[in-house]
Amino acid sequence: MPSCARLIRSACLSLAVALSAASAGAPVVAQNGDKPAVAIGADLATQAGTTRLTLTLSRAVEARGFVMERPDRAVIDLPEVNFQLESGTGSRRDGLVQSFRYGLFAPGRSRIVIDLAAPATVGKIETATRPRDGAVLLTIPLQRADRDAFRKAAAAADPAPAQARSAAPEPTDQRPLIMVDAGHGGTDPGAIAVGGVFEKDIVFGFAQALVAKLEAGGRYRVRMTRDRDVFVPLAERVRLAREAKADLFVSIHADSISAAPQVRGATIYTNSEKATDAESAKLAERENRADAAAGVDSAEAPPDIADILQELTLRETRGFSSGFARTLMGQLSPVIEMSAKPHREARFVVLRSPDVPSVLVELGYLSSKRDLEMLQSPDWRAGVTGSMAKAIDLFFTNRATLGRPTGTRRSAAVAPVLP
Ligand code: ZN
Repeated sequence: MPSCARLIRSACLSLAVALSAASAGAPVVAQNGDKPAVAIGADLATQAGTTRLTLTLSRAVEARGFVMERPDRAVIDLPEVNFQLESGTGSRRDGLVQSFRYGLFAPGRSRIVIDLAAPATVGKIETATRPRDGAVLLTIPLQRADRDAFRKAAAAADPAPAQARSAAPEPTDQRPLIMVDAGHGGTDPGAIAVGGVFEKDIVFGFAQALVAKLEAGGRYRVRMTRDRDVFVPLAERVRLAREAKADLFVSIHADSISAAPQVRGATIYTNSEKATDAESAKLAERENRADAAAGVDSAEAPPDIADILQELTLRETRGFSSGFARTLMGQLSPVIEMSAKPHREARFVVLRSPDVPSVLVELGYLSSKRDLEMLQSPDWRAGVTGSMAKAIDLFFTNRATLGRPTGTRRSAAVAPVLP
């Protein structure tokens, strides 16, 4: 095969892989709804000046490679790949490969970055199916090059326009958007425990852990209504979720009843004009006071239901909110103490988006010694955020299965992606 240096740039540097007929023509960004290909192996072998990196994949993917100088690297771009590789993979030197790393590079896109032990160019990337188990082997050959040829290849890869490209908006990311709302913040501490622990800090730590878990799964875009200890008015939280066209809004709080330190457990709330009981109504009132506590005047304007379509949207959103609350209850019950009535309704300002399914989770009571201990335990947090992430997975899987009702703009999880 001729070396990269002797090939024209487009043929050599943009190495679209010839794939099996079934997946030929698939876009580089993972198709919405398709699970990312899983990589279960990454092996290196060197022979006659060529080092081959072979990925063992659950299915074929398109890959393209290019090289960069200072430091010398080869970069392989892939659609999103779920890397299930042994720890330490990539740290062993072999031939032209010093080491390599891999991961999600941008929404829907994964990347392998190979640190080169010597100048090399990326040869023709090939895909083959292993007969015995149908696994797909993606082989990336790195061919020894002299410094001049390498430099030319790197210059041809043109890092400057590449950077400009990556700064440009990504192709529309179709993954559902989860808005995680850590209650209170800044001048508003929320409930305060006997020892002086603030609700705003506990719920923020929990929200961050939840975001990390969701991001690690790679199935969602995740945003927070506050990413630090700052006050955000309730209406602003709602606005952020609506403006971002969030597919789910999860508000995290922790309650306190100093008069009843024996009261424990988590409760999931959804919005309703009519509260389930007086207790829920009072809680909503307390939480709705957040703005006043921080000196913000929140005119609590209910969403304007002008026409039948909006009313349908609101009804549908409520249905989704309740559905998610039930799913969440199912996932949380085994790992967390739930209150006597774990799903309740009340009039929470922060849950009033007419078009974003929204729930508010009171994780427990700061006034309960046992709840407070749990709320501060990293193990407990890991377990509960894991169960929440599972509930979110189930929610979107079910929505995809049930299909998308007409007249709504969301449900990105089930929207068809045109190639
Ligand atoms: Zn609160």
